[in-house]
Amino acid sequence: MKRLRTRVMGRTVRTPTPHTEWCTRDHRCGLDEHRSAEQIVDGAVDGRAVITRVRAGGVEYAEVRARIPLHGSEAGAHWQVVKTLRLVRGLLAAVAIRPGVLRTRDEQPAVDRRHEKGVAAQ
Ligand SMILES: [Zn+2]
Repeated sequence: MKRLRTRVMGRTVRTPTPHTEWCTRDHRCGLDEHRSAEQIVDGAVDGRAVITRVRAGGVEYAEVRARIPLHGSEAGAHWQVVKTLRLVRGLLAAVAIRPGVLRTRDEQPAVDRRHEKGVAAQ
């Protein structure tokens, strides 16, 4: 009988991270992944999108899942898929983080400069 050779794979060690202000603090969170409640976009047309805020591995992102009913014809469905790809590309470009864009009001250097001007003028 031939013996099976096994290889021990390295274990993935995940360090627990604290919950965030916006995560659900329940079963949806993992050791190092935190998830918000799902925001559902539907009602206006057929289809549905679910947006979830996620922090995992020190990176924060919005996870978007969408279900879009497709036309019964191949040509119609193909057009919808192509249009969806274009619109998703536009969405990604529209919400991309841009250099120089500040995340919080505290990061606005103009606030400090205004204060310094006010102090200097007195
Ligand atoms: Zn959490």
